[in-house]
Amino acid sequence: MVDPKQLGWEAGTVGELDHRLLKAPHVKLRAATEGPNGGVVYAVDLRINQPNSTFLSSTEMHSFEHFLLWGFQKYMPQNFISVGLMGCQTGFYLILFNEGRADAILDAYEKILNDILTAAEVPYANIAQCGNYKNHSLEMAQALARRVLDAKANWRQVV
Ligand SMILES: [Zn+2]
Repeated sequence: MVDPKQLGWEAGTVGELDHRLLKAPHVKLRAATEGPNGGVVYAVDLRINQPNSTFLSSTEMHSFEHFLLWGFQKYMPQNFISVGLMGCQTGFYLILFNEGRADAILDAYEKILNDILTAAEVPYANIAQCGNYKNHSLEMAQALARRVLDAKANWRQVV
């Protein structure tokens, strides 16, 4: 059995919570699913905006998604499965295999956000690798990364 507390997550914040209570930005474990033959798949929320307040634009979400894909592949190549958009435009879902420690995940996230600040271009923003390659903004992604990094002290404060 996976014990979220042993992985560094605050007890009582795992799973689905009342969205009216959520603070943002935060990082929280959503689920840990054990396979029948071993191994654990972790679902992590990278919440950027407080729900039902302000929303990320499609351009912000799209460029950030590319950076998260690129970055988690770079920093957690053995564990990264995927990252996806929250349809409510307030954050992202991160899926990892066999790595659920809060410290390791937050460390990779912080490295990616810092990489965004000094990036010269949005990764994969070209016609061969993206389905809407003109809908990108490095400047918007950098402003967003700055904002999330500035709130780093609060990332574990979910409610
Ligand atoms: Zn794309």
